Amino acid sequence: MLLGIISALAEEQQGLVEAMQSPYKLVHGQRTYWVGQLWEIDAVCVLSRIGKVAAAVTATTLVEKFGVTHILFTGVAGAGDKSVRVGDIVVAESLVQHDMDASPLFPRFEVPLTGLTHFPADHHLSTRLADAAYAFLDEDFAAAIAPQERAAFGLTRPRVHRGLIASGDQFMDDPAHINRLNADLPGLVAVEMEGAAVAQACYELAIPCAVMRTISDNANENAATDFLRFVKSVAAQYAFYVVRRFCRQDEETVKIQASRESAGT
Ligand code: SAH
Repeated sequence: MLLGIISALAEEQQGLVEAMQSPYKLVHGQRTYWVGQLWEIDAVCVLSRIGKVAAAVTATTLVEKFGVTHILFTGVAGAGDKSVRVGDIVVAESLVQHDMDASPLFPRFEVPLTGLTHFPADHHLSTRLADAAYAFLDEDFAAAIAPQERAAFGLTRPRVHRGLIASGDQFMDDPAHINRLNADLPGLVAVEMEGAAVAQACYELAIPCAVMRTISDNANENAATDFLRFVKSVAAQYAFYVVRRFCRQDEETVKIQASRESAGT
């Protein structure tokens, strides 16, 4: 596995780059790619910047220039449903571009000439990511997030949701808009600005991808409040610990396989 890890915001990427073993950096197409190892996994970390085009270009470059075989996206998102709260983790099952509308030529949300409205996330990779997220919340959360930050953002019992993520080139801060989208897109759990673009690029290049988002806001008028503080003190920690658990699951699997082999089973 050569794992490409895309983050949308610098604060989310920093911890991962610092954890890399023997990293070297390569600048290409106005982005800095960090190539090295993360907890024994060969990885390339990169900041996509914000928006669908930025994310699609980054994902494509990871595949075409760096030869990554799998892609993970970590970032923050607005809640897409009332059951989803700030501090929860969302892992995408599929992703849709909510601002794609070439009707009446094509149905609303359908990406022309692909025949698809929803692009799938890889099931196996997403399950591994969700397992890492559950383990993080059960075992690391209390130590990883400072008590005053938990109190400031009202994080009590965060949960993991798996479902539909909608992406568009728009920061969503209007509850009426979210309600309409939620009605038009059953199973919606989060809204953000990159995931579905990565999913389309990966679909077209036949690369498995998974997307994890920490819910930073309720996509309402308070969405921008303390956004940066949340990213730094909460979302960056979530991304770091979940990716660490994700990578170490592989170490565990390798260890189990090795011990089975040496036991001759
Ligand atoms: N106010 C921020 C802007 C961040 S843009 C700033 O000044 O830096 C929003 C980023 O967070 C994008 O990467 C997007 O994917 C995600 N995001 C979080 N909440 C969102 C929301 N309510 N709508 C759209 N994207 C959101």
